[in-house]
Amino acid sequence: MLVGTALALQPTEIDRLLAQADAIKSSDYQEFGRVLDRLQTVENLSHSQTSYLDYLQAWRLGYAGEYDVAIPKYQEVIKTSDDLTLQFRATASMVNTLVIARRYHEAFTYLDLLVERLPQVSDRAARAQAFHMAAYLNNQVGQYELAEDFSERLIAESPDGRGECMGRQLQIESFYKQKKLDPDGEDVRLALEACNRVKEVVFGNFARTFVARELIDRQKYQAAADLLNAVYDDVQETRYPHLIAQVDVVLAQAQWNLHNLAQARTYALRAIERRITGQATEPTVAAYYLLYKIAQQQDDVRGALSYHEKFAEADRQNFDDVSARSLAYQMARHQSIANKLQIDALNKQNQVLQLQQDLGAKAAETSRLYIAMLVAGLLLVFLWAFYTKRRQMHFRTLSQRDGLTQIANRPHFLDLAGRALEECRRTRVESAAILLDLDHFKIINDRYGHAAGDHVLRKVAAVCQSYLQQPNQFFGRIGGEEFAILLIGCDEDRAVGLAELLRNAVRATNTDDAFGHCPVSASFGVTSTTKAGYELHHLLACADAALYKAKLEGRDRVARFDASLTARRTQNDPLPGGMRRI
Ligand code: GH3
Ligand code: MG
Ligand code: MG
Repeated sequence: MLVGTALALQPTEIDRLLAQADAIKSSDYQEFGRVLDRLQTVENLSHSQTSYLDYLQAWRLGYAGEYDVAIPKYQEVIKTSDDLTLQFRATASMVNTLVIARRYHEAFTYLDLLVERLPQVSDRAARAQAFHMAAYLNNQVGQYELAEDFSERLIAESPDGRGECMGRQLQIESFYKQKKLDPDGEDVRLALEACNRVKEVVFGNFARTFVARELIDRQKYQAAADLLNAVYDDVQETRYPHLIAQVDVVLAQAQWNLHNLAQARTYALRAIERRITGQATEPTVAAYYLLYKIAQQQDDVRGALSYHEKFAEADRQNFDDVSARSLAYQMARHQSIANKLQIDALNKQNQVLQLQQDLGAKAAETSRLYIAMLVAGLLLVFLWAFYTKRRQMHFRTLSQRDGLTQIANRPHFLDLAGRALEECRRTRVESAAILLDLDHFKIINDRYGHAAGDHVLRKVAAVCQSYLQQPNQFFGRIGGEEFAILLIGCDEDRAVGLAELLRNAVRATNTDDAFGHCPVSASFGVTSTTKAGYELHHLLACADAALYKAKLEGRDRVARFDASLTARRTQNDPLPGGMRRI
């Protein structure tokens, strides 16, 4: 550009030139350059026209491989333009350049931005560009489901049929990499047709390379070679190195498998020739590997060694590149999730602050009232619960006690004793049972009256209870004037000792107080689990047999159960014969 050649053009003319440059940028790169140079000299560009021109210049720099200049220029456009579509296009083109420049982390970060802004962009070409980048990049990092999804959307958005071709080609790649490509299937047919319609030789033939690779995987080597040979010249004409190298290497693999070593070698060498210097892509790695195998087959030891070294180096570089892509993808994902979480957290915080502010003095007063009501309500519930619990406990105690003597009644005693004995059975602890029955009680009743009889019963129970205070001693009234004792962890001898104590205590009971003196005594039957086992009813029946013996031998005595006696009571009738149940 020469100083002093500045032009002033009509705004509509500037718009026309910009649109023209944009339209021909990939099909006629040289003319595109000339139009841009001309626009560069125009001095009366508006702000939006300047941004548009900057975008096209960034594109030109990127195409020419000047990534380090192109990327900041795109960023500038994104920052300063007030046209959302242009910002979006600049982002999409920049993602493309970032990928070529192998700056994957930034590529994925901007891709996220692009996807996020999709709903705000209506320009179909711009949207298709974003879908293409998204599908392409996701394929590159093995996110095939996402890639397929974006490809579908690209196909649907396709303004001029190019999108359909590109989308279907990316689907073929994704299917191949997931090992679900059918070389004769509908997807392949549709992709090739779509690309044929718009004369997209590059994308159509990229699709063919994946079909050929699938054919090789299925050992259909000749079919693979035929497929690519048919389009070989078209591919050369595209002058697109990446595609040409890909086709060469797949052909080399097919020929290798067909045992045409010379042809395989020629194609492999071509694939390497085409490679962009300094970049080890998949075709380069595969080509070096084949050359190494071919040299080995031909007993060319030095050649094999040399190619193997090159293969190893290319493989390492390619592996580094693949790892870098995956790592960048993961990092961008985490970053995006973290950002979203942070934004969510901030939003929540703001909502809370807003609510707090909205809650004015009146609301605060209302809430205090609510709290007071709540506390009062809680207090009531608490008191009610307390009262109910107490009533429950009271009724439970009533239901467990004998009304006359206040000791455990028959069901409660049987329940407690039964459970304690089960535990003894489990832990193998010996226990003993004592049954005691007042002697000639009928006579007491007859002579002194029923009330006196009751009084005697209360006294006797209280006296016995005073000897049975340990937690392992259970005492209950199980019949009219009959009581039962269960002693946990006690053998028969000690139980007999205690029964003797009780016998003396009963005899010594002072019954004078209300009704004058009435002599009282009791007979005792004793047994233990060693003789009678751990079944409560049987244990009591054996103790009762012993008690019966004591009665027969003259009353006011203690008798032990022995094998000569038979348990008097059955499980169904554990009470002494003729006794009244209470
Ligand atoms: P034995 O020495 O053989 O046991 O003679 P006994 O008179 O004590 O035995 P029997 O079974 O013939 O009589 C028991 C009496 O106990 C009959 C009954 O009136 C009396 N009795 C049972 N329950 C009560 C009670 O709650 N209060 C009073 N006062 N007497 C009762
Ligand atoms: Mg009796
Ligand atoms: Mg009696």
